[in-house]
Amino acid sequence: MTLSTAGSDTGVPGGPARWSSPAATGGTLTVTEPATGNVLAEVDEASSADVDRAVARAKQAQREWAAATYDQRAAVLRRAARLLEADPDRLLRWLVPESGSARGKASFEVGLVVSELDECAALTSQPYGELLQSTKPRLSLARRVPIGVVGVISPFNFPGILSMRSVAPALAVGNAVVLKPDPRTPISGGLALAELLTEAGLPDGLLTVLPGGAEVGQALVAHPDVPCISFTGSTPAGRKIGEAAAPLLKRVHLELGGNNALLVLPDADVEAAASAAAWGSFLHQGQICMTAGRHLVHASLADEFTALLAAKAEAVTVGDPTDESNVLGPVIDERQREQIHRIVTDTVSAGATLLAGGKYDGLFYRPTVLANVPVDSPAFRQEIFGPVAPVVTYDSVDEAIEIINDSEFGLSVGILTSDAFRAFELAGRIESGMVHINDQTVDDEATIPFGGTKASGVGGRFGGTRANLESFTETQWITMQSSIERYPF
Ligand code: NAD
Repeated sequence: MTLSTAGSDTGVPGGPARWSSPAATGGTLTVTEPATGNVLAEVDEASSADVDRAVARAKQAQREWAAATYDQRAAVLRRAARLLEADPDRLLRWLVPESGSARGKASFEVGLVVSELDECAALTSQPYGELLQSTKPRLSLARRVPIGVVGVISPFNFPGILSMRSVAPALAVGNAVVLKPDPRTPISGGLALAELLTEAGLPDGLLTVLPGGAEVGQALVAHPDVPCISFTGSTPAGRKIGEAAAPLLKRVHLELGGNNALLVLPDADVEAAASAAAWGSFLHQGQICMTAGRHLVHASLADEFTALLAAKAEAVTVGDPTDESNVLGPVIDERQREQIHRIVTDTVSAGATLLAGGKYDGLFYRPTVLANVPVDSPAFRQEIFGPVAPVVTYDSVDEAIEIINDSEFGLSVGILTSDAFRAFELAGRIESGMVHINDQTVDDEATIPFGGTKASGVGGRFGGTRANLESFTETQWITMQSSIERYPF
């Protein structure tokens, strides 16, 4: 069996590895470790022309896969879960250096990939339709059928799970997939996942990984035989994909950026709130769509909260993530670091007080706390995608809700309080796809319908039986009667 990813010379850490793939004929992509600048691997790069070949193979393979019994599809996904569970290092050893992930974050991500595979194995055996009432003596039913070839485009920050959360459910319900990971993380976001599924017995052609940039993604979006695009990434790129897909009448799932608020109510335990806030803002260097990017703290708690948060920021260790004592690693590249630093600098110029951080060494950006942040400053309004906690104070809860909703984004919100039911009522007034009461904003599980509203997402949710069925199948209405219906003419 030959999947598009032929595997690797996994020579890490003794020098760059080589991943070759007959499906990718566009040249060579050099993958560097953000922590050191060292070359981690060389990978065959795809060209737009490779998209045609991959889609043609996928289309052919999909027919047989869709006709396979549910337990045949489940067996592949379950085997992949067991292989990864038995040897998490097969993904960790790429994920840590390639995406600059601290060990804890990377292990959590690998656990999510295992759960995703298990949940999707279970998805195959779920009921996939309903019997409908009819005014005629006939069988009337609606069933879910595979879409065909699903194009998956994924980002760099949680490359393993953000690819697998589209790949696994799409395969589970009988589709084939062409996956374009981020060019900075083609291994943990694609090649290593395909290698795992191949080893688990996934038949040829059902998952092709095409490492490459936006042009390859655009070719996938434009391809007439790819009726569905499952995209996770930035809001600007999502808009471009939406624009390209609209005239083609394609289904698109767009899971996009966020600027997530952490609301600290006056009755919250400040110490616990500061700890939740630090985790929510700094984990994985703030490079998470659900990162707490706006802290709204009641004026009565503000001084204590910001002092505690700044102390936590100062105490966090930042460095090469292959050294397990480092809690945070590097940001992904210089462009990203420049953007973070520009936003921090502009916000300080706009009147904010820098309480911690605001400086960097190479790609290692120190966890940063900004107090007295103007609500119209860049750090408060924009998605920073860096380890920055901007804090704003408020006097009334109504004012806080207004500030939270005054954002183009609507992904995740955390509310910290000693009155959880009051927070539950407030959740109904908040424009956000996800709300966590007495937790920070970063969370995910394979069983939940992950997703945002407004500029954070549209077109489908990922995770859990219902959302996965809705996102990765079409509905077919079937009627059946025993003889041909008679008509007046
Ligand atoms: P990005 O949008 O630049 O890239 C994501 C992927 O899209 C990459 O594979 C990239 O090559 C591809 N791409 C970029 N432009 C494209 C185009 N015009 N056509 C087709 N493909 C294109 O994202 P990034 O900045 O690298 O990643 C971070 C962003 O992703 C942040 O905004 C973050 O919030 C968001 N994100 C969202 C979620 C979510 O679930 N909502 C999860 C993780 C990251």
